[in-house]
Amino acid sequence: MAGIYIHIPFCKQKCHYCNFFSLASRKNQSELLEALKKEAERSRSYLAGQLIHTIYFGGGTPTIYPAEKLQEVLETILVNHPAQPAEITLEINPEDVSKEYVEALKNTGFNRFSIGIQSFFEKDLLWLNRGHSAVQAESAVYRLQDEGYHNISIDLIYGIPSLDPGQWEKNVERALALKVPHISAYSLTVEPYTALDILIRKGKLERPSEEASIAHFKMIREMLKSAGYLHYEISNFALPGFESMHNSNYWNGTHYLGLGPSAHSFNGISRQWNVSRLDDYLTKNHTGQPCFEIETLTSEQRYNEYVMTSLRTSKGCDSQKLSDLFPFRKAEDHSQENSRFQKATKKLIERDLLREENGIFFLTDEGQLLADGVAAELFLSSDRDRSL
Ligand code: SF4
Repeated sequence: MAGIYIHIPFCKQKCHYCNFFSLASRKNQSELLEALKKEAERSRSYLAGQLIHTIYFGGGTPTIYPAEKLQEVLETILVNHPAQPAEITLEINPEDVSKEYVEALKNTGFNRFSIGIQSFFEKDLLWLNRGHSAVQAESAVYRLQDEGYHNISIDLIYGIPSLDPGQWEKNVERALALKVPHISAYSLTVEPYTALDILIRKGKLERPSEEASIAHFKMIREMLKSAGYLHYEISNFALPGFESMHNSNYWNGTHYLGLGPSAHSFNGISRQWNVSRLDDYLTKNHTGQPCFEIETLTSEQRYNEYVMTSLRTSKGCDSQKLSDLFPFRKAEDHSQENSRFQKATKKLIERDLLREENGIFFLTDEGQLLADGVAAELFLSSDRDRSL
């Protein structure tokens, strides 16, 4: 089983906080579609014949294209890769969900939709420089539901300085009222060189507060869990049976192929990432040159990645699986590492950041607030450059 991700970098405007590879321009829009099809053909052997189980069109804003154009790319993928996709997701921005667009989707294979709502308050959307209104956010969900689509995920952002706790609670209530089976909630982070970073440094926008972010996270966790959602990954909540299969691939080490500028791929041995310049990507694809850089992962890197990603999920970090996947963990010359792992987990349990059940380690509610730091405590020595 494997997955394919397609990156469409075009956006109508650039959100202040965005650090994805995205372009507020439509230049080369049709050239990109042709290049994506070509890359889908050229990368036929990357996943070594594994059956494709999930496909995800993300960005950027894939819905900048008409539905039938996205379907063309999807068909090229299905012709060139052995696939029985159970989940084909399309990321959409609320302003694109017109009645006509939703009708056109009926002629495509998409069966799951992820909508970047972020907030139901106009002032937050302006603060973030989103391209849609609060009304459009809700009607996007209703339109899809009216057409019979129910496998819908929405994204919310917390920690926005313009959001007080009462308004954040209202955002979560409105998300619940939409009866969508999947909700992702992300903390607003200020990435270097984004517009948000620059505006904060110039004193034009307020810096998000960590305390507010923590309070918002605790509130959404409580409210969604009480409403029956499973908190299956730190930033993701789903009603039973609606966990994102594609994103779960990233967390459980399943192999995936990324198509499009800046898209990443992983085949268990190496990780590769496509160039993050559209013209470069187009030229290289056109001339048949490789359009990616590649890094072979050391077993230490893979080990640390397993610890990091598994701890973030409700399945936890399984000590036995760790030893099965990384036999060097059992070897004598790493016995020091093993005892270090035991000492580190013991300390984290004492600090109520970790709990253990039958050899599987889980973040506690407190531990979830310090997930990266907790994971770093369990890393193999060479990568232990962060601490709590
Ligand atoms: S819509 Fe998404 S990808 Fe586009 S600018 Fe906003 S955050 Fe970035």
